[in-house]
Amino acid sequence: MGESVLTRGAAVTAAGPGFARIGSALRCEAVPLAAITERVGTPCYVYSAGAIRTRVARLAGALAGLPVRMHYSAKANSNLAILALIRAMGLGVDIVSGGELFRARAAGFAGPDIVFSGVGKTVPEIEAALRAGVHSVNVENPSELELVDGIAATLGLIAPVVIRVNPDVDVNTPHPYTRTGSHGMKFGVPHDQVVDLARRAAELANVRLMGLAVHVGSQISEALPYALAVRELEVLADTIEADGLTRLTVFDMGGGLAVRYGDEPEPDLVAYAAALRPLAARCGAVILVEPGRFLVADAGVLVTRVLYRKHSGGKEILIADAGMNDLVRPALYGAVHGIDAVDEADCAGGGGAQTVVADVVGPVCETGDFLALGRPAPDVPAGALLAVRTVGAYGAVMASNYNSRPRPAEVLVDGDRWAVVARRERHDELVQRESTSVHWSES
Ligand SMILES: *Cc1c(COP(=O)(O)O)cnc(C)c1O
Repeated sequence: MGESVLTRGAAVTAAGPGFARIGSALRCEAVPLAAITERVGTPCYVYSAGAIRTRVARLAGALAGLPVRMHYSAKANSNLAILALIRAMGLGVDIVSGGELFRARAAGFAGPDIVFSGVGKTVPEIEAALRAGVHSVNVENPSELELVDGIAATLGLIAPVVIRVNPDVDVNTPHPYTRTGSHGMKFGVPHDQVVDLARRAAELANVRLMGLAVHVGSQISEALPYALAVRELEVLADTIEADGLTRLTVFDMGGGLAVRYGDEPEPDLVAYAAALRPLAARCGAVILVEPGRFLVADAGVLVTRVLYRKHSGGKEILIADAGMNDLVRPALYGAVHGIDAVDEADCAGGGGAQTVVADVVGPVCETGDFLALGRPAPDVPAGALLAVRTVGAYGAVMASNYNSRPRPAEVLVDGDRWAVVARRERHDELVQRESTSVHWSES
């Protein structure tokens, strides 16, 4: 071990609610993770259906009594089986692209279950959404409103629209890339332009303005930004409704509820519900919430095998078979994910959760390709399995083929049953869209 620091216990805690040990072996619900990887190999995402149901129930419980409808943000994890699981619990969905519209419909969501958000919607995407009869198109700028009106006219229908407001609420999220609600960012209509845009919507023949939306950011653990955004929407709605003709009934509060990756606080759901409550007092109002991360993050782990272990530059290095193409969050956001031994009997000493301060890196040819840097990792030899925690959101959906690596398998566990819900990509699929014989076009 050289100068490596050995600690015991503390840094290695249990994974999310769907994961626990029986003896030394980590299980997802009743299924040992090692039994899954024996069949599907590594790297592999494993999700707990029970953990997702628990999170949905917790949020639904906190919001009980409010006129709330939950629309799961598909971009957090848009695997069809996850979407179908969430649909079965009665939630709607929030999408941000034509591809997500396709997935949502493939998972059985009907038009009215679907909210279409997104900062750069294209004509074909808007057309497909209107044809599908989505609940609302959340428009983000004046040109988009005109475009939606024109497309709706061509299709001979009235488009339900919601204006996404940039509330200029500064949110202290852990990383600047997860802030979306501040002045000067690309998201939403600046709040001082919202009323004019609502007036314009009233003039257009083929749109119907249903309400206002915000999305203040992601990984938010305090209720204050939501309370401020609610206050802002109320003021805007009062101004817009002052014409005596418009009535706004949809208040879409976006997503952003935080999860615990390490020591950060859990969001206070009681305070969150209290922040939304003023909207419930508005006549006929429906409050939409769009949780993504909160519902699925801690329901997933990424299981990876240690390929090699080396000591270099005074550091311990564990080289895993999962890299930044499988899980980009550490490279992209500096995200810190806990890492557990799948079998604690693999740890040095054999007695439990011994850790070693190490870099856990992937096989991709990039210095940014790491799962953890200089943190306590399970003190396991090459060949052992590791579970990277809290990767059910923004994990598999961000996987790429960089270094021509096939995207990992995904498995869903429900009680003592498990199923492959995305098989590992094959090499032939990597080149399916390409050819060595190119067909030139004359200009
Ligand atoms: C990304 C996004 C969400 C979900 O955000 P989470 O932080 O995962 O809850 C919800 N609504 C909109 C409009 C989004 O862009």
